[in-house]
Amino acid sequence: MPQFAIIGAGMAGLGAAHRFYQEGFEATIYEKNSHPGGHAATFVKDGFTFDDGPHISFTKNKRLQSLFAQSVGYAYERVKASTNNYWRGYWIKHPAQCNLYGLPTDLVVEILTDFIQRDGNAKISNYQDWLHASFGKTFADTFPMQYTRKFHTTEAAKMDINWLGPRLYQPDLQEILRGALSPSTPDVHYVDHFRYPSQGGFIAFLKLFLEDARIELDREITQIDLRQKSMTFANGKQTHFDHLISSAPLPELISLIKDPPAAVQQAAARLACSSCVLVNVGIDRSDISNAQWTYFYDDDYIFTRLSFPHMLSPHNVPQGAGSIQAEIYYSKKYKPMDRRPDNCIPITIQDLKRCGLVKESDRLLYSESRLVPYANVIFDLERAASLKIVHGYLDEIGIHYAGRYGQWGYHWTDESFLSGEAAAKDILSRLL
Ligand SMILES: Cc1cc2nc3c(=O)[nH]c(=O)nc-3n(C[C@H](O)[C@H](O)[C@H](O)COP(=O)(O)OP(=O)(O)OC[C@H]3O[C@@H](n4cnc5c(N)ncnc54)[C@H](O)[C@@H]3O)c2cc1C
Repeated sequence: MPQFAIIGAGMAGLGAAHRFYQEGFEATIYEKNSHPGGHAATFVKDGFTFDDGPHISFTKNKRLQSLFAQSVGYAYERVKASTNNYWRGYWIKHPAQCNLYGLPTDLVVEILTDFIQRDGNAKISNYQDWLHASFGKTFADTFPMQYTRKFHTTEAAKMDINWLGPRLYQPDLQEILRGALSPSTPDVHYVDHFRYPSQGGFIAFLKLFLEDARIELDREITQIDLRQKSMTFANGKQTHFDHLISSAPLPELISLIKDPPAAVQQAAARLACSSCVLVNVGIDRSDISNAQWTYFYDDDYIFTRLSFPHMLSPHNVPQGAGSIQAEIYYSKKYKPMDRRPDNCIPITIQDLKRCGLVKESDRLLYSESRLVPYANVIFDLERAASLKIVHGYLDEIGIHYAGRYGQWGYHWTDESFLSGEAAAKDILSRLL
């Protein structure tokens, strides 16, 4: 039987292994961490459960819904999504564009005037153009362009719009007016309800796949030799493969390959991705927020987004406690890290108090920081052309790539899993 090797035991690697297994083949996953799951991993300590960044499942794929449900013995929470925004002391329902009620009158008037006068047919060369054409200048400049700086770590003018999908809701004038005049508006977020395991955090959804797969942990691949069809691990040992699927981030994958062309190395170096410092906090109270997650726009707040894991499942915290996960974004290309992850903890706690979510009287039960080196692919204006060069080279040398960082896209967990499955299917279709 040919040797099928997979780099990475995240959603994509598990998707690939699952497909091989379903077709009657065995594949080996090599994972550099000492735990599986990649970004879908969960960490439990002192009774607090935190995922590697907030993770919920809102897949519409019935087969995956069913596999996730079977994994947890059908013990999952089905939660109605509730999201809000914090801007200069105002708490606004999400999405802000159709929930302007309560914002300063002058700002609302300017937003409405600009929306009515916007040039909806303007030429779109970048994300900033799209925002101005969709929402008008005042709203675009005040909310999404400011959020872009914090989340994508760069300017909207430097980004394309290939990642948008359903992410930014485009209301009509009536919806905007209604949301400016009334606090009560229909829910229009693209995530309406979501699922989350009752016990064990997000990774519990992957139990079936983890059982199917042959996974070797603590196996960091440091070199790929295409002529020998071999891979070297950090401990110097080697393994042979006939077919390889990688879910490692593309810049890292290229650096593992012996002597790639200079143009490919340069293209890989232009690919941008954010890093995320997670600050996980536990306090002795659960009534912290009404929303499961909140977007923060202000520059003087260190975090970009907060989520509340105890609202995903009550078993994510000790009884009576509440938990908060803060996301703070950096990127090598646009906003290099200016402090150690641990140094983000006191600033986060101070900012949580400043916006009123944590009170002076609350008892801090838990705090830690965690670095996610690859978080969100940045769709800057260099991405498409650079990606074409990198993917073209991998196609030429026969390395399959999958997942968020192999496809270099904005994949959710289900899409990453499906892309791993597609890579395995592609290999098998050529063999059989
Ligand atoms: C902050 C954040 C929040 C998110 N929230 C959601 C959400 O709510 N819902 C949702 O559906 N999706 C969410 N996502 C997206 C989701 O995390 C991804 O789609 C998915 O987990 C990516 O899986 P992957 O297998 O492609 O990559 P990864 O999970 O990164 O897996 C790649 C694996 O490869 C391993 N690896 C890398 N290099 C090597 C090497 N040299 N040798 C061996 N192993 C290696 C890594 O250790 C890793 O385990 C979120 C992502 C982020 C960053």
